Amino acid sequence: MKDLKELGRNQIIESLKKAGYPAYRGEQVFNWLYKNGISQPAEMKNLPKELRAFLVESYQITDLKEINRSQATDGTVKYLWELADGDNIEGVYLPFPESNRHSACISTQVGCAFGCSFCATGIEGFKRDLTAAEIVDQVLKIQLDISGENFAEPRLSNIVFMGMGEPLANFDNLMQAVEIINADQGLNIGMRKLTISTSGLVPKIEKLAETNDQIGLAVSLHAPNDRLRNKIMPINKKYNINQLLTAVINYIEKTGRRVTFEYVLMDSVNDSPELAVQLANLLRGINCHVNLIPANPVPELGIKKPVKSVIDNFYNTLDQNKIQVTIRKEMGSTIDAACGQLKRQTR
Ligand code: SF4
Repeated sequence: MKDLKELGRNQIIESLKKAGYPAYRGEQVFNWLYKNGISQPAEMKNLPKELRAFLVESYQITDLKEINRSQATDGTVKYLWELADGDNIEGVYLPFPESNRHSACISTQVGCAFGCSFCATGIEGFKRDLTAAEIVDQVLKIQLDISGENFAEPRLSNIVFMGMGEPLANFDNLMQAVEIINADQGLNIGMRKLTISTSGLVPKIEKLAETNDQIGLAVSLHAPNDRLRNKIMPINKKYNINQLLTAVINYIEKTGRRVTFEYVLMDSVNDSPELAVQLANLLRGINCHVNLIPANPVPELGIKKPVKSVIDNFYNTLDQNKIQVTIRKEMGSTIDAACGQLKRQTR
């Protein structure tokens, strides 16, 4: 059975047309889902009763169940949802009042196969890809939570696919979800406001460059040499830094877009002054921006945040070498808004 939330607007219209309904009925269904945040056909008031029954009988309709919601003092909200098969996923809402941005961080897989040494999600291993509907519904649930039932203001303005899982390993479902989230008759979140994060899946970065020249790309680098990166990110043994940067440069040339390199600063792991110099040398001349992220502690993995002076030194080295760099504002640390942590604590 098809899931209504994995169909784009035209696909809903076509699907209902095949069952004998005029195009405007499909438009109404799409509007209920994405302009009003209504998932249950019973609440789609302007549809005839028999169409509402048809929707219930003919489609699955993903409707994530919230099982935990925690709000930090800075307004960050972390959600834990249960999927229809009982698995759990996380999403995070991040408000940036100073720039009037409302961001959501969305998961793309249950668990993750990539085993990064610092990541709580990686500990659990990979379970399955999320469907496009499960990806889309996280956005709907966060929008509904922040705006309430009027589904209007505030509007989510930015989406980062940076939650649980490796987004590019679930390429087709992710791109279908992107199309639905971007549709101007629905949630209408601009393609340039969407960012896909990857641990460095080179063939999929190449595929992305071929298929979408608008969406943002963020690469989790976390180490400036293969020896260290092999240790903390096993994917580097398959696609090393040289291959990764070749794909990234190709992506920049094809799309004209600046790429973000994420670098989680972990105490005594990747935060030394020598590594900062290596990173500056590695990235010199690439149209990029480095986002330094002080690690959220993961006690069971021994991950700690460096002290402020170390973070500042790392930043200054990059800055003095004319690498565009920012230190990510720490958000949600009071609710452990790091990949995989809420899920582990709720058990
Ligand atoms: S950091 Fe990302 S790619 Fe690495 S294990 Fe965690 S979820 Fe997977």
